[in-house]
Amino acid sequence: MAARIGLIGGIVAIGVALSVSLTHSAQQNGVSITFLANEGVLLSAGGKHVLIDGLFLKYKRGYAVPADSTLAALQRARPPFDSVDVVLVTHRHGDHFHPAPVAAHLRANPRATLVTSQQVIDSLRRYAPARALTSERLVSRTMRPGTRRREIVSGVAVELLGLPHGGHPQVEHLGYIVELGGRRVLHVGDTEISEETFAPFRLDTSRIDVALLPYWAVTGRNERRVIERWIRPRQVVAFHIGARDAVKGEREVRAAMPAAVTLVRSLETRQW
Ligand SMILES: [Zn+2]
Repeated sequence: MAARIGLIGGIVAIGVALSVSLTHSAQQNGVSITFLANEGVLLSAGGKHVLIDGLFLKYKRGYAVPADSTLAALQRARPPFDSVDVVLVTHRHGDHFHPAPVAAHLRANPRATLVTSQQVIDSLRRYAPARALTSERLVSRTMRPGTRRREIVSGVAVELLGLPHGGHPQVEHLGYIVELGGRRVLHVGDTEISEETFAPFRLDTSRIDVALLPYWAVTGRNERRVIERWIRPRQVVAFHIGARDAVKGEREVRAAMPAAVTLVRSLETRQW
């Protein structure tokens, strides 16, 4: 009997070890990033999904917008946007956020939690269809410039960074470091890429695997110096290129930083 229990115990132990190592490898296997438009991305790894700046509508002339079918899938929480756990919005500008698709997505997808500034939440609250959303799903985290805070949201580790919006001091603005698939992905929104903004965070010593940056941060000489000195990411990804400037923008990024990847085609997916 003892031998049999020992055998069963052994099998159970092997099973536990196997499932632990499978879970571990799923967590460490890298992150996939699907581009939408402007600075909108879906991050996925190990069954967890984080949407950043991905719920907006057509903004001013020249700004990119996903195809109608993609907008519909985002708003109705249909694949590949059917299991988003966390929705992050850097700030309230219309090329990053609109209350209608945010309210629609949150209503269609009860598992999603929004973490953003109070200004974004206020804007959402003024929009009638959002009134039914419970306050636990709308997490207000306005961050003073230079401050940071790490928390676990729906099982995903997210670090919130107080990064000011370039040229718009009255706009509450957040950056994020999302930890997924063993990777740390930085999204800086429309922040000012300056030493003053980034020096307090010492991201150069906190291992950024992928930095998602507006393309003007990569093409500008001073901004590039800030990236290399104060962020030091393993991979630079440039986005937020205007609807009609894709070819030119991609060329400029390649000339300025040959190792950078440019995201311009909606729904293209990369793995890191
Ligand atoms: Zn903006």
